Amino acid sequence: PRLLDDEEGGVVFLSSSISSSSSSGYGYASVEKQRQRLPVYKYRTAILYLVETHATTIIVGETGSGKTTQIPQYLKEAGWADGGRVIACTQPRRLAVQAVASRVAEEMGVKVGEEVGYTIRFEDLTNKDLTLIKFLTDGVLLREMMDDPLLTNYSVIMVDEAHERSISTDILLGLLKKIQRRRPELRLIISSATIEAKSMSAFFQARKVRRGLEGGDFVPRLEPAILSVEGRGFNVQIHYVEEPVSDYVQTAVSTVLLIHDKEPLGDILVFLTGQDDIDAAVQFLTEEARTNRKNSSGLIILPLYSGLSRAEQELIFSPTPRGKRKVVISTNIAETSLTLEGIVYVVDSGFSKQRFYNPISDIENLIVAPISKASARQRAGRAGRVRPGKCYRLYTEEYFINEMSAEGIPEIQRSNLVSCVIQLKALGIDNILGFDWPASPPPEAMIRALEVLYSLGVVDDDAKLTSPTGFQVAEIPLEPMISKMILSSNELGCSEEIITIAAVLSIQSIWISARGAQKELDEAKLRFAAAEGDHVTFLNVYKGFLQSGKSSRWCHKNFVNYHAMKKAIETRDQLKRIVQRIGIVLKSCDSDVQVVRKAVTAGFFANACHLEPYSQSGMYKTVRGSQEVYIHPSSVLFRVNPKWVVYHSVVSTDRQYMRNVISIDPSWLLEVAPHFYQHQRLNPIQ
Ligand code: ADP
Ligand code: MG
Repeated sequence: PRLLDDEEGGVVFLSSSISSSSSSGYGYASVEKQRQRLPVYKYRTAILYLVETHATTIIVGETGSGKTTQIPQYLKEAGWADGGRVIACTQPRRLAVQAVASRVAEEMGVKVGEEVGYTIRFEDLTNKDLTLIKFLTDGVLLREMMDDPLLTNYSVIMVDEAHERSISTDILLGLLKKIQRRRPELRLIISSATIEAKSMSAFFQARKVRRGLEGGDFVPRLEPAILSVEGRGFNVQIHYVEEPVSDYVQTAVSTVLLIHDKEPLGDILVFLTGQDDIDAAVQFLTEEARTNRKNSSGLIILPLYSGLSRAEQELIFSPTPRGKRKVVISTNIAETSLTLEGIVYVVDSGFSKQRFYNPISDIENLIVAPISKASARQRAGRAGRVRPGKCYRLYTEEYFINEMSAEGIPEIQRSNLVSCVIQLKALGIDNILGFDWPASPPPEAMIRALEVLYSLGVVDDDAKLTSPTGFQVAEIPLEPMISKMILSSNELGCSEEIITIAAVLSIQSIWISARGAQKELDEAKLRFAAAEGDHVTFLNVYKGFLQSGKSSRWCHKNFVNYHAMKKAIETRDQLKRIVQRIGIVLKSCDSDVQVVRKAVTAGFFANACHLEPYSQSGMYKTVRGSQEVYIHPSSVLFRVNPKWVVYHSVVSTDRQYMRNVISIDPSWLLEVAPHFYQHQRLNPIQ
């Protein structure tokens, strides 16, 4: 690649007043001007020089400085995508992949799926012959390694949002470091908003020197380069609450109304934790706008979380009409992954949804947990993009100073490692404890994962992938337990039903969230509810949706989420293709739901629970770890409380709740996983 060296002079260093219109139809020149105004532009030559001369370049720069959208374009302009090579840029989040790809395509004046494409699980918008810049999730890049272990298609791989330390990012960093030894010409860019660049640099520096590289070819330097992009955020004034708040959703809503009442125009970004509380806040605010026009006129209220439809995404990024105020209520996706223009006020609940895994109880939980100081600072920073802003923290200053941890814990140290282990095994990495991790996962969690994989028949006595089961399970891009359920359905003759279930389980929820209309939602659910549990209920909803001719009116009437159903159908189509490729024959069991339950058990036996014999409150205990769990109120088995169940996942609020539950016969547990459940563990309880 050629270095461009004509950019140094004439740079306007401004981070303000960049319009982010996708609909105002700006011409080519103004796109160029916008690009040149981004802080990262000043470093264009430096970045290209470092990438040329170093195997690994670490780039740290404030959110919104242009890392994600600009650097891949600079690389392309400098020739890194010539000769059939591709520039990759990974993101931990799917929604960010889509949003960034469409932004870059727009800047380049091309269609997404051509020169600029993206790939997320079950959705590939790239073109083998045309795509030069490819955005993808780090999980998808890991999967690509199964077919092409050295990732030979790519000339540069930019691992973006590295500070998030998602589990896939960490695995990827370890593997990329290995690949570099075999492919010294491959360039890596590790980019992030806050990373402790030194430790990341130390990770890439510590390597065995490889001897015997052929002379002649230019070999980049192995020690990583570090570049820090100076942004120019405006000052953000921080406000704390005086007393701890008990209901952060309500407080967030009233804070928004207060800002709207007292403060000059400027958009508001609210950080809550997930779809439930975001939808609740949207409803409260919308309700307020309806009943009390005076204090909420001019508000445009928008939710932001993964699983939004295209149209909903576009609203988020479209410019706020004159005289109006946009309120975006978001998960932590807006913390660093996406840049929203025009935000002047931030309301920070202080919480996010986080995974926590306890290897002793063997339960992985999704918990609403306090964020770190680093996250809180990022969130506040979002208010200072266009002019000085304000951040309203819904916690006390004392809490911020004394209680919040400085940094978050890497996800790999707080997750169930079943998926991670199988992926490494599939890539031929057998010594997983000895793998070169950016942060080591806990050995107990590794051992637990191996135990489960052994019981699933995925690894053998030597902890090697079994053939064909292990390889087939690894081939399906879903959690191993789901993949195993699919393989079992092949033997049980219910693969049609099980892949529908697998598709629905990969979606957050197929129901419309209905605060204030809980009764109606429950009644609607009853129309589909199956005595066996949620999985069978999904089959009924799916059937109903198909029979309605995929009608959105039908969905509305039944409190079913139309977009979720469409997504389920797309996912199912993709999944169908994948499982057929590995030799699964699609077959329906018609209405024999017993085999469906058996297939679910064959995958999820490790999540078996029994009802406590004399419990009045519907308390269950996990068979393995004797942990107290309850059926989630959203389940059709809530209050039904069958004796034995398996669950898909656990969420924690005041208690640990099982989501997506199906009743089983305990004798099946011994049938499908004899080594996992010894007789004496099951019998006395029954
Ligand atoms: P970084 O990766 O450093 O956080 P980005 O490259 O994502 O920064 O964003 C740079 C700028 O590009 C943003 O400040 C914003 O002006 C613009 N931008 C990014 N994504 C979009 C989008 N989807 N729609 C409109 N503008 C966008
Ligand atoms: Mg970015």
